[in-house]
Amino acid sequence: SLELFLAPFSKDEAQGGVLVVIHDVTEQRKAEELRREFVANVSHELRTPLTNIRSYAETLAASPDLPPETAESFLEVILRESDRMTHIVQDLLTLSRFDYGRMELKFSWFPFGEAIDNVCRSMQMEAKRHGHKLEKSFVGTLPRVWGDRERLEQVMLNVLSNAVKYTPDGGEIRLTAGTEGESVWMEVTDNGIGIPEEDKDRIFERFYRVDKARSRESGGTGLGLSIAREIVMQHKGTIELVNRPGPGTTVRVTLPIGGKADGSL
Ligand code: ADP
Repeated sequence: SLELFLAPFSKDEAQGGVLVVIHDVTEQRKAEELRREFVANVSHELRTPLTNIRSYAETLAASPDLPPETAESFLEVILRESDRMTHIVQDLLTLSRFDYGRMELKFSWFPFGEAIDNVCRSMQMEAKRHGHKLEKSFVGTLPRVWGDRERLEQVMLNVLSNAVKYTPDGGEIRLTAGTEGESVWMEVTDNGIGIPEEDKDRIFERFYRVDKARSRESGGTGLGLSIAREIVMQHKGTIELVNRPGPGTTVRVTLPIGGKADGSL
Protein backbone atom coordinates (compact mmCIF):
# COMPACT_ATOMS: atom_id res chain seq x y z
CA SER A 1 0.00 0.00 0.00
CA LEU A 2 1.09 3.52 -0.68
CA GLU A 3 0.93 6.59 1.47
CA LEU A 4 0.80 10.02 -0.11
CA PHE A 5 2.23 13.19 1.40
CA LEU A 6 1.72 16.63 -0.07
CA ALA A 7 4.24 19.13 1.15
CA PRO A 8 4.79 22.71 0.06
CA PHE A 9 7.87 22.79 -2.10
CA SER A 10 9.11 26.02 -0.69
CA LYS A 11 8.60 27.69 2.68
CA ASP A 12 7.11 30.64 0.91
CA GLU A 13 3.76 29.35 -0.26
CA ALA A 14 3.33 32.26 -2.57
CA GLN A 15 6.06 30.80 -4.72
CA GLY A 16 3.91 27.75 -5.24
CA GLY A 17 5.00 24.27 -6.11
CA VAL A 18 4.10 21.14 -4.23
CA LEU A 19 6.32 18.21 -3.41
CA VAL A 20 4.61 14.85 -3.65
CA VAL A 21 6.11 12.14 -1.50
CA ILE A 22 4.95 8.62 -2.01
CA HIS A 23 5.89 6.16 0.69
CA ASP A 24 5.58 2.47 0.28
CA VAL A 25 4.35 1.43 3.70
CA THR A 26 3.84 -2.21 2.83
CA GLU A 27 7.12 -3.25 4.48
CA GLN A 28 6.36 -1.18 7.56
CA ARG A 29 2.91 -2.75 7.94
CA LYS A 30 4.38 -6.21 7.51
CA ALA A 31 6.97 -5.55 10.21
CA GLU A 32 4.26 -4.29 12.55
CA GLU A 33 2.13 -7.31 11.91
CA LEU A 34 5.07 -9.65 12.55
CA ARG A 35 5.75 -7.85 15.80
CA ARG A 36 2.14 -8.16 16.91
CA GLU A 37 2.08 -11.82 15.97
CA PHE A 38 5.30 -12.37 17.90
CA VAL A 39 3.97 -10.78 21.08
CA ALA A 40 0.79 -12.82 20.79
CA ASN A 41 2.87 -15.97 20.37
CA VAL A 42 5.08 -15.20 23.34
CA SER A 43 2.08 -14.52 25.56
CA HIS A 44 0.39 -17.70 24.48
CA GLU A 45 3.50 -19.84 24.89
CA LEU A 46 4.07 -18.56 28.41
CA ARG A 47 0.45 -18.68 29.44
CA THR A 48 0.06 -22.37 28.68
CA PRO A 49 2.69 -23.62 31.17
CA LEU A 50 1.62 -20.96 33.69
CA THR A 51 -1.97 -22.16 33.56
CA ASN A 52 -0.81 -25.73 34.14
CA ILE A 53 1.42 -24.78 37.05
CA ARG A 54 -1.35 -22.76 38.64
CA SER A 55 -4.01 -25.44 38.37
CA TYR A 56 -1.81 -28.27 39.63
CA ALA A 57 -0.55 -26.16 42.51
CA GLU A 58 -4.10 -25.16 43.34
CA THR A 59 -5.24 -28.78 43.43
CA LEU A 60 -2.30 -29.73 45.63
CA ALA A 61 -3.07 -26.90 48.03
CA ALA A 62 -6.77 -27.74 48.18
CA SER A 63 -6.39 -31.49 48.68
CA PRO A 64 -4.08 -32.35 51.56
CA ASP A 65 -5.25 -35.99 51.43
CA LEU A 66 -4.05 -36.80 47.93
CA PRO A 67 -2.19 -40.10 47.73
CA PRO A 68 1.54 -39.40 47.79
CA GLU A 69 2.06 -40.82 44.26
CA THR A 70 -0.57 -38.48 42.86
CA ALA A 71 0.89 -35.51 44.70
CA GLU A 72 4.30 -36.43 43.39
CA SER A 73 3.12 -36.66 39.81
CA PHE A 74 1.51 -33.22 40.16
CA LEU A 75 4.79 -31.84 41.42
CA GLU A 76 6.55 -33.36 38.45
CA VAL A 77 4.21 -31.54 36.09
CA ILE A 78 4.88 -28.30 37.94
CA LEU A 79 8.65 -28.81 37.65
CA ARG A 80 8.44 -29.74 33.98
CA GLU A 81 6.30 -26.77 33.11
CA SER A 82 8.56 -24.35 34.95
CA ASP A 83 11.51 -25.82 33.06
CA ARG A 84 9.59 -25.15 29.85
CA MET A 85 9.08 -21.54 30.80
CA THR A 86 12.75 -21.17 31.64
CA HIS A 87 13.63 -22.62 28.23
CA ILE A 88 11.32 -20.26 26.39
CA VAL A 89 12.60 -17.23 28.27
CA GLN A 90 16.22 -18.25 27.68
CA ASP A 91 15.58 -18.70 23.95
CA LEU A 92 13.79 -15.35 23.79
CA LEU A 93 16.70 -13.64 25.52
CA THR A 94 19.11 -15.18 23.04
CA LEU A 95 17.01 -13.94 20.11
CA SER A 96 16.63 -10.49 21.59
CA ARG A 97 20.39 -10.21 22.00
CA PHE A 98 20.67 -10.89 18.29
CA ASP A 99 17.95 -8.35 17.52
CA TYR A 100 19.73 -5.63 19.44
CA GLY A 101 23.14 -6.56 18.11
CA ARG A 102 24.32 -7.44 21.58
CA MET A 103 25.17 -11.02 20.87
CA GLU A 104 28.89 -11.10 21.36
CA LEU A 105 30.38 -13.97 19.46
CA LYS A 106 33.68 -15.36 20.63
CA PHE A 107 35.61 -16.14 17.48
CA SER A 108 38.53 -18.53 17.40
CA TRP A 109 40.01 -21.17 15.10
CA PHE A 110 38.58 -24.53 16.15
CA PRO A 111 38.65 -28.02 14.62
CA PHE A 112 35.28 -28.43 12.91
CA GLY A 113 35.31 -32.23 13.15
CA GLU A 114 35.99 -32.15 16.87
CA ALA A 115 32.98 -29.89 17.45
CA ILE A 116 30.77 -32.30 15.52
CA ASP A 117 32.15 -35.23 17.54
CA ASN A 118 31.25 -33.35 20.71
CA VAL A 119 27.68 -32.74 19.62
CA CYS A 120 27.26 -36.34 18.49
CA ARG A 121 28.50 -37.60 21.81
CA SER A 122 26.12 -35.42 23.78
CA MET A 123 23.17 -36.58 21.65
CA GLN A 124 24.11 -40.28 21.67
CA MET A 125 22.26 -41.11 24.89
CA GLU A 126 19.08 -39.39 23.82
CA ALA A 127 19.21 -41.14 20.44
CA LYS A 128 19.69 -44.49 22.16
CA ARG A 129 16.78 -43.84 24.46
CA HIS A 130 14.62 -43.64 21.35
CA GLY A 131 16.22 -46.66 19.72
CA HIS A 132 17.65 -44.50 16.92
CA LYS A 133 20.75 -45.44 15.04
CA LEU A 134 22.99 -42.38 14.96
CA GLU A 135 25.76 -42.51 12.39
CA LYS A 136 28.46 -40.00 11.63
CA SER A 137 30.79 -39.83 8.68
CA PHE A 138 33.20 -37.21 7.38
CA VAL A 139 34.11 -36.79 3.75
CA GLY A 140 37.88 -36.24 3.86
CA THR A 141 39.54 -34.44 6.74
CA LEU A 142 37.85 -31.40 8.19
CA PRO A 143 39.79 -28.16 8.65
CA ARG A 144 39.82 -25.65 11.44
CA VAL A 145 37.08 -23.07 11.16
CA TRP A 146 37.02 -19.45 12.30
CA GLY A 147 33.89 -19.06 14.40
CA ASP A 148 32.21 -19.14 17.77
CA ARG A 149 32.57 -22.79 18.63
CA GLU A 150 30.04 -22.87 21.45
CA ARG A 151 27.33 -21.19 19.37
CA LEU A 152 28.02 -23.34 16.34
CA GLU A 153 27.80 -26.45 18.50
CA GLN A 154 24.44 -25.14 19.62
CA VAL A 155 23.35 -24.92 15.96
CA MET A 156 24.38 -28.52 15.35
CA LEU A 157 22.72 -29.64 18.56
CA ASN A 158 19.44 -27.93 17.64
CA VAL A 159 19.39 -29.56 14.23
CA LEU A 160 20.40 -32.96 15.54
CA SER A 161 17.93 -32.89 18.40
CA ASN A 162 15.16 -32.08 15.93
CA ALA A 163 16.10 -35.18 13.95
CA VAL A 164 15.84 -37.19 17.17
CA LYS A 165 12.52 -35.56 18.17
CA TYR A 166 10.76 -35.78 14.84
CA THR A 167 11.69 -39.36 14.00
CA PRO A 168 9.59 -42.21 15.35
CA ASP A 169 11.52 -44.53 17.69
CA GLY A 170 13.93 -46.87 15.99
CA GLY A 171 14.84 -44.41 13.25
CA GLU A 172 18.03 -43.70 11.41
CA ILE A 173 19.88 -40.42 11.74
CA ARG A 174 22.96 -39.64 9.72
CA LEU A 175 25.36 -36.80 10.23
CA THR A 176 27.81 -36.05 7.45
CA ALA A 177 30.29 -33.24 6.98
CA GLY A 178 32.90 -32.18 4.50
CA THR A 179 34.70 -29.34 2.77
CA GLU A 180 33.71 -27.59 -0.41
CA GLY A 181 35.94 -24.84 -1.71
CA GLU A 182 36.29 -22.17 0.97
CA SER A 183 33.46 -23.61 3.05
CA VAL A 184 32.64 -26.49 5.32
CA TRP A 185 29.23 -28.13 5.33
CA MET A 186 27.34 -30.36 7.68
CA GLU A 187 24.17 -32.30 6.99
CA VAL A 188 21.76 -34.08 9.30
CA THR A 189 19.44 -36.56 7.64
CA ASP A 190 16.68 -38.47 9.35
CA ASN A 191 14.00 -40.87 8.16
CA GLY A 192 11.33 -39.32 10.37
CA ILE A 193 7.99 -37.62 9.81
CA GLY A 194 9.38 -35.09 7.33
CA ILE A 195 8.17 -31.54 6.72
CA PRO A 196 5.16 -30.90 4.49
CA GLU A 197 5.97 -28.94 1.34
CA GLU A 198 3.84 -25.97 2.39
CA ASP A 199 5.69 -25.56 5.69
CA LYS A 200 9.22 -25.80 4.34
CA ASP A 201 9.64 -22.07 3.83
CA ARG A 202 8.49 -21.21 7.30
CA ILE A 203 10.17 -23.52 9.81
CA PHE A 204 13.02 -21.04 10.40
CA GLU A 205 10.51 -18.45 11.61
CA ARG A 206 10.12 -17.76 15.30
CA PHE A 207 7.54 -20.02 16.95
CA TYR A 208 6.64 -21.66 13.67
CA ARG A 209 5.89 -25.34 14.17
CA VAL A 210 4.25 -27.84 11.91
CA ASP A 211 2.60 -29.65 14.80
CA LYS A 212 2.43 -27.61 17.98
CA ALA A 213 1.30 -30.45 20.21
CA ARG A 214 4.09 -32.74 19.04
CA SER A 215 6.72 -30.06 19.43
CA ARG A 216 5.56 -29.16 22.92
CA GLU A 217 5.41 -32.77 23.99
CA SER A 218 9.05 -33.22 23.11
CA GLY A 219 10.04 -30.04 24.93
CA GLY A 220 10.32 -27.84 21.85
CA THR A 221 9.90 -24.08 22.03
CA GLY A 222 9.54 -23.42 18.31
CA LEU A 223 12.60 -21.17 18.54
CA GLY A 224 15.44 -23.64 17.97
CA LEU A 225 15.77 -23.21 14.22
CA SER A 226 15.34 -19.43 14.29
CA ILE A 227 18.19 -19.23 16.80
CA ALA A 228 20.26 -21.57 14.63
CA ARG A 229 19.62 -19.36 11.62
CA GLU A 230 20.68 -16.20 13.50
CA ILE A 231 23.93 -17.81 14.59
CA VAL A 232 24.69 -19.14 11.11
CA MET A 233 23.92 -15.76 9.55
CA GLN A 234 26.34 -14.08 11.97
CA HIS A 235 28.98 -16.39 10.51
CA LYS A 236 27.95 -15.49 6.95
CA GLY A 237 26.85 -19.06 6.43
CA THR A 238 23.59 -20.65 5.34
CA ILE A 239 21.14 -23.13 6.82
CA GLU A 240 18.55 -24.76 4.62
CA LEU A 241 16.44 -27.81 3.94
CA VAL A 242 17.69 -30.10 1.22
CA ASN A 243 15.14 -31.84 -0.94
CA ARG A 244 15.83 -35.53 -0.99
CA PRO A 245 13.64 -38.24 -2.37
CA GLY A 246 11.98 -40.45 0.21
CA PRO A 247 10.65 -39.71 3.68
CA GLY A 248 12.45 -37.74 6.35
CA THR A 249 14.31 -34.48 6.49
CA THR A 250 17.77 -33.21 5.59
CA VAL A 251 19.09 -29.96 7.02
CA ARG A 252 22.33 -28.53 5.62
CA VAL A 253 24.55 -25.95 7.28
CA THR A 254 27.33 -24.28 5.31
CA LEU A 255 29.98 -22.05 6.89
CA PRO A 256 32.92 -20.14 5.48
CA ILE A 257 36.14 -21.69 6.78
CA GLY A 258 37.47 -18.31 7.81
CA GLY A 259 38.07 -14.70 7.09
CA LYS A 260 34.57 -13.51 6.27
CA ALA A 261 32.87 -13.34 9.61
CA ASP A 262 32.32 -9.79 10.92
CA GLY A 263 35.50 -8.67 9.22
CA SER A 264 37.32 -10.15 12.18
CA LEU A 265 39.92 -11.86 10.07
P1 ADP B 1 10.83 -26.93 17.99
O1 ADP B 1 11.26 -26.44 19.30
O2 ADP B 1 9.35 -26.95 17.82
O3 ADP B 1 11.48 -28.20 17.58
P2 ADP B 1 12.37 -25.63 15.85
O4 ADP B 1 12.50 -24.19 15.55
O5 ADP B 1 13.61 -26.39 16.18
O6 ADP B 1 11.28 -25.74 16.99
O7 ADP B 1 11.70 -26.34 14.58
C1 ADP B 1 10.52 -25.77 14.03
C2 ADP B 1 9.60 -26.85 13.46
O8 ADP B 1 10.18 -27.45 12.30
C3 ADP B 1 9.33 -28.01 14.41
O9 ADP B 1 8.29 -27.73 15.30
C4 ADP B 1 8.94 -29.12 13.43
O10 ADP B 1 7.58 -28.98 13.06
C5 ADP B 1 9.78 -28.80 12.19
N1 ADP B 1 11.01 -29.64 12.13
C6 ADP B 1 12.28 -29.26 12.44
N2 ADP B 1 13.15 -30.26 12.24
C7 ADP B 1 12.44 -31.32 11.79
C8 ADP B 1 12.77 -32.66 11.38
N3 ADP B 1 14.03 -33.12 11.41
N4 ADP B 1 11.74 -33.46 10.94
C9 ADP B 1 10.48 -32.99 10.91
N5 ADP B 1 10.11 -31.75 11.28
C10 ADP B 1 11.06 -30.91 11.72
